Amino acid sequence: MKMIQQALPAKKHIALVAHDGRKHALKSWCEKHLDVLKQHSLYGTGTTGHLIEQATHLPVHKLLSGPMGGDQQLGALIAEHDIHLLIFFWDPLASQPHDPDVKALLRLAAVWNIPVACNESSADMILSSSLMNTPMMRDMPDYQGYLNERLGQQ
Ligand code: PGA
Repeated sequence: MKMIQQALPAKKHIALVAHDGRKHALKSWCEKHLDVLKQHSLYGTGTTGHLIEQATHLPVHKLLSGPMGGDQQLGALIAEHDIHLLIFFWDPLASQPHDPDVKALLRLAAVWNIPVACNESSADMILSSSLMNTPMMRDMPDYQGYLNERLGQQ
């Protein structure tokens, strides 16, 4: 698909999600990176968002709890270009009742070319990028071109 560019501000919109078995790890990671995270806007699924807010005292825009629709809400925000980065500590050792929603969220992050971290080391590397605290251009799919192409096929 053809890509176009989107300008991202220095203050990024960061989504934070963790499965139950990984919530403690994400909480510790957020505490470790408090100084960077406080420069950005934070979003989270319901339970994760509350825990991060309690632990860091940073405001988190809290969506529904993941199994109740929060993962899908995040996916929709990604498709609408409102989330710039996804930190998602999913649990590779536990099955999830909402696995279809988890897959859908990860799929939309891939479709819209959003950076995704699934564990501490990938999240550390993303957060240490010089692009985190400067305005930047990022590639994303040319939706209008995609739509025009499809309409031309009908
Ligand atoms: P939660 O949802 O933050 O409400 O626990 C996360 C998830 O499991 O998707």
